[in-house]
Amino acid sequence: MDILVSEDDPTTRAILNALLKKWGHNTVVTNDGEEAWQRLQQESPPRLLLLDWMMPKMDGIEVCQRVRDAAKEEEPYTYIILLTAKGSKENVVSGFEAGADDYIVKPFDEFELRARLKAGHRIVELQTELLKAKQDLLHQSLTDDLTGIMNRRAILSQLRRSMERSKRTGELLSVSLLDIDRFKSVNDTYGHPAGDIVLKECARKIQSVLRPYDLFGRFGGEEFMVITPDIVETAASVAYERIREAIENSTIALPNGSLAITASQGVALWNGEETMDEFISRADQALYKAKDAGRNCIEFASECAITHD
Ligand SMILES: [Mg+2]
Repeated sequence: MDILVSEDDPTTRAILNALLKKWGHNTVVTNDGEEAWQRLQQESPPRLLLLDWMMPKMDGIEVCQRVRDAAKEEEPYTYIILLTAKGSKENVVSGFEAGADDYIVKPFDEFELRARLKAGHRIVELQTELLKAKQDLLHQSLTDDLTGIMNRRAILSQLRRSMERSKRTGELLSVSLLDIDRFKSVNDTYGHPAGDIVLKECARKIQSVLRPYDLFGRFGGEEFMVITPDIVETAASVAYERIREAIENSTIALPNGSLAITASQGVALWNGEETMDEFISRADQALYKAKDAGRNCIEFASECAITHD
């Protein structure tokens, strides 16, 4: 593990460096608090710090405080051990208050130092695992299990953000609700596992024709939502047509045969005033029109400036 050592006394510094290396650690050695702080600003800083309390320019306590003040929730934890001269034990409380996790009294005992480093190492590892688990959970809570794309919660939160940005910048914003045609009969005829394959394939096809900044998620069942920010009407029209074609032109391989599917879309252009529910509702009404018009087509919401031929 990488350990940052900050100690102004050359002899102690050399001893610490030699011991840590002997125990198999990588060391980053600094001569004072300022140097330590600078090193900690760089990419992938050490997460275990051994800081002398009394140092010129910046003492260990200040480094400690700065590390805690700058700590971000999404970053790994930094474990800090303070080295303090004998007799200053009464100051230990203020060391903990500054954010230190542990302290060692100088002159230190080699075995004690090793034991305390081990404890610190364990805490850093546990915190890292915890952070990873938290990130995994967050990812899961925003991802559709079957298709791996954004789930309803995630795509709606993206839509809300897109609307806020559009309001701020005046950029055009459109949304498409896409529904796989006659999906129920796929399930009834080929079974639910086949239905799942169709959903996955459909998601993959849509994804393959989107622009990098388009947003796409599973809205529910066999319904998907595509958000196209910052796009002029005609370009939006082209983008949605490309999706329709991509689905129409693909044959989906199933364990018991193959299947051609189509999808219908209802598109709305945000008018800058309506709520998210009203915006989605207009796209939904357009989707009904597309179904009524014979499916495998795109209908645009009436208040929408996009024209469709
Ligand atoms: Mg010192």
